[in-house]
Amino acid sequence: MILNIKYFVYLTLIVIGFYFIYTNYLNLIKVNFSNNHIKTSKIENKESDNFEEITKIQIENNNKKITLQKVGEEFQKQKINVLKGDTFSSILNKFNLSEREIFEIINIIGAYFDLRKLNIGQEINFFLNNNKEVQKIEIYKEIDNVLVIEMSEKINVFEKKLKKEIHQVSKEFYILESLYSDGLKNDIPQSILIDLIKLFSFDLDFQRDIRVNTLVSLSFEYIEIKENNSIKYKDINYALISINEKKIEYFKFLTDEGYTDYFNREGKNVKKSILKTPLDGARISSNFGMRKHPISGFNKMHKGVDFAAPIGTPIYAGGNGVVEYIGYNGGYGKYIRIRHNNDYKTAYAHLSNYKKGISQGVRVNQGDIIGYVGSTGRSTGPHLHYEILFKNKQINPLNLKLPSGKILKGDELKRFNKEYKKIYADHLNLLYE
Ligand SMILES: [Zn+2]
Repeated sequence: MILNIKYFVYLTLIVIGFYFIYTNYLNLIKVNFSNNHIKTSKIENKESDNFEEITKIQIENNNKKITLQKVGEEFQKQKINVLKGDTFSSILNKFNLSEREIFEIINIIGAYFDLRKLNIGQEINFFLNNNKEVQKIEIYKEIDNVLVIEMSEKINVFEKKLKKEIHQVSKEFYILESLYSDGLKNDIPQSILIDLIKLFSFDLDFQRDIRVNTLVSLSFEYIEIKENNSIKYKDINYALISINEKKIEYFKFLTDEGYTDYFNREGKNVKKSILKTPLDGARISSNFGMRKHPISGFNKMHKGVDFAAPIGTPIYAGGNGVVEYIGYNGGYGKYIRIRHNNDYKTAYAHLSNYKKGISQGVRVNQGDIIGYVGSTGRSTGPHLHYEILFKNKQINPLNLKLPSGKILKGDELKRFNKEYKKIYADHLNLLYE
């Protein structure tokens, strides 16, 4: 009986613990997301419209946060941020517009902007007159590029480029509690802190390795648009984490292939990172994203990248890690999954065979052969289906903003050497100016 109560208490504590971890995780994601679009609602006087900021009321409408703003006597500004599931017409439907007007607006915008490319979080402003009639719509295509739709007798559309300023910031601080909380205390934006944690996630276990007085030094960029008072944080240019004698530092670099990557002073990438292409001489035959499934014919999300290659082509471990699963796995056919760290895993499907010695629990190094290309499971021909999983969810490997495991050579290394020295000099100048 006492034993049962003990287990019950343990179980309750574990459940509560998971709940907190999960909600904190959700908060982190949410915060990160909204921070990418820092918004302020001040409106400046413009030549054409004599706007004047009077009031700002936050109203909640169908879970949508709309900032209602009275500008001058004539116009009210309503700011909408596109939410998941929104379409442009579903947004227009919230306003006092006839079906014919909606049709005309959509039709005319089509020539300037692909409305299917409306992103979650994207900002759209509606300007209403006293009769709640839409007078003007602004769609932010980029932080510095607005599509303006004026509704007078005729609908008038034009693009407006806003003047942007690029700023660089350098910061240095010691960790007293955690990288995240001390970063916030030192005015480092959340989105930059999250990028920083991702950047070092293959070198450091943030729970165990970080100790008090770990030094963090970094520089990053942001774009400022004075006209509408908005800021967008860009990439980290330089980052250093120094624990006792151990220094890990990265410099941002645009590789010859066009990837933004991070390298150390030797032009080397962390070898523990993940390969974007885990086999030689293959070509991508199907990318990550929506596609018609070649066998079922249904439109389905393709959650990996397919590499066409002859049967028997060796497949390499995408990174250092432990084999978590090896065996037949439904439509995946012969399948291997490797766990690299707390967050990242890679999976390999449709293999013809496994490499001898590879079994569950075996440690592999990046570049080790683990198996061979085949066509087992639901497959139309010999190819490798490759997935990168972040927190057990497939992500697009081509968007992976992590070091590629590449070592710079030749002219690319020369170019890097010049660039990293400049990044470092700028960083020190900003820190000590
Ligand atoms: Zn595939």
